[in-house]
Parts: sequence; C-alpha cells; structure tokens
Amino acid sequence: YQLQLGETLYNFGWVFTSLMESVGASRKVFEYLYRQPKITYNGMLKPTAIEGKVAFNDIVFSYPTRASTLVLNRVSFTVNPGETVALVGPSGAGKSSIISLLEHFYEPRNGKITLDNYGIEEYDHKYFHQKVAMVSQEPVLHDGTVRYNILYGCEEWATESEMIRAAKLANIHEFIMESEKGYDTQCGEKGVQMSGGQKQRIAIARALVREPAVLILDEATSALDAESEHIIQTALAQCAIGRSVIIIAHRLSTVEKADRIVVINKGKVIQTGNHKTLMQNSSGLYYSLVQRQLLQQADESDA
Ligand code: ATP
Repeated sequence: YQLQLGETLYNFGWVFTSLMESVGASRKVFEYLYRQPKITYNGMLKPTAIEGKVAFNDIVFSYPTRASTLVLNRVSFTVNPGETVALVGPSGAGKSSIISLLEHFYEPRNGKITLDNYGIEEYDHKYFHQKVAMVSQEPVLHDGTVRYNILYGCEEWATESEMIRAAKLANIHEFIMESEKGYDTQCGEKGVQMSGGQKQRIAIARALVREPAVLILDEATSALDAESEHIIQTALAQCAIGRSVIIIAHRLSTVEKADRIVVINKGKVIQTGNHKTLMQNSSGLYYSLVQRQLLQQADESDA
C-alpha cells in the first residue's frame, strides 16, 4: 500500500512538474490570447490628453514564481513624447519583461514606471490600455469578423470611419475590401486564412483605432516575405508619426531609424545612444551585436 501510495505521489509530482513546465512554455501564447493586465488597479486618472512620455525609474523586478532571480536590476530610461526607442539585447536580457511591466502584467519590486509623470497605476486601467497599445510579434485573431477583430475592446465608442482610417494606416484596408464581405469577412480558425503579415496588419489597425499616445511593438523575428516586410515597415513608419514608440527590435533597419537605442544585457541597461554613436564604441555590446549579425540585416531582395 505504501509503495503504491509512494508511486502515486511520485506520478502526481511528475505530472505537476510537467504541467508547470508547459505553463511556462505557453506563457507567451496565453499572454497573447488574454492581453489583460494581471494586476488590478484602481487609478482614476483619465486626462483629456496624453503627451506620451514614458519613464522607467530604477526598476527592480523578479517574476513571482522565481522571486530569487533578479530579471531587471535598476533599469532606467525615458521615452520622450514622439520618440522612437528601440530595446535591443541578447535573448533573455529582459526586453519582454520591460514591456510586460509597462503593460502592467506585473508590479516592479522597486522603482516607478510613469506615463506623463504619473505612476501607471494611477490611471484608470481601461483608459491606460487605450493610450498605451501593443502590437505583438504573433498576433492572435479571434473567431469573428474583421470588424470585430479591429474594434475588439473599443466597439462601444469607435466609429466605422475611425476603423477604416486605422485599417488604411495599417495598409490592410485594400486587402479587406478585396474579399466579397469586406469588414464582415470571418477571421480566426473557421474564417479566411491570413498570412503572418496580414494578421500583423490587422493587429496594427486594432492598436491604431484606439488612437494610442504610446505604441509598443514587438518586431517579428520570423522572416516575413520581403513584400510583407516592406508593407509592414511602411505602415509602422506611418503609425509612429505623432506617437511615442517603444520597439523590441531585431532588425538593423529598425534600430538605424530609432531616435534612441537602449541596450539591455542581463537585466541592466548597459548602453544608450543612437546607432551612429553606439557604433563608435567597438568594445560595446551593441557593436558586437551588429558585427555578429545578431541584428538581422534586411532581406537582400528588400535592399
Ligand atoms: P527574448 O529576446 O528571447 O524574447 P528577452 O530579452 O525578451 O528575451 P525576457 O523574456 O524578458 O528576455 O526574459 C528575461 C528573463 O526572465 C529570462 O531569464 C527568462 O527566463 C525569465 N522569464 C521570462 N518570463 C518569465 C516568467 N513568466 N516566469 C519566470 N521567468 C521568466
């Protein structure tokens, strides 16, 4: 009996561990599916206008499940209104964690993140997620029409013409109009199959319809074909006008255009500057990332 009980407990332990590992592996999938803040906050701020200044002040962070591991160690940087700032660094450096904190998925252990000089927790959370919008690397489209997918979360107030304007800016309007049902075309598993680039453009339209002051982008690591890449780059350049943009950058062409590059390594900001100034320091990490081609060159066909 004891042996059996021991074995059962052992098996339970194994299943539990495997389950936790799968949960870890599926983290990003779940985050993309349910992009709702895990932290509930009761701020009341809803200013009539947001300039879009974002500041990380001395942020210290570890994940609740691994409290002993510091993921961010005194990270500070500022994004001024209208600026494009690229986050760059090796895998595991902490770039996505910075974005998760800005999206308020987690609370920092120390330090403060501000939007226009107010702590992000002081804002009404629905308002905050309207003003700070994210386009992820692998956007998920929900089962429903194109209209539903673009207006997702702001169907109560966004108008048809605002939706079309956002779709045009995202370079997806023409594609939508090519299909018979236009904005009533079904997406998702049961609907029309879309390429990665088309999904991303729908996601860009979804972000833009909120008229965000701050746009967060996670640049795709997977190669899109040169044409989609070009269309997306053009769309993003349009979107950046008049907005602050924070981008997790993997491409040289993106960082070259950024106003400022923040280089992260092992949870710390180790360099900041633009491409030209950072390349002058041949012993810096940025220089070696470029030299080792860890920042991908644009497609030859694109060039
Ligand atoms: P990549 O370029 O590979 O996406 P990154 O720079 O975005 O990497 P993060 O994803 O922020 O890096 O990860 C920073 C550290 O935090 C890594 O050591 C990672 O294993 C750990 N980490 C990330 N997410 C979690 C989580 N949900 N729970 C525990 N640890 C995590």
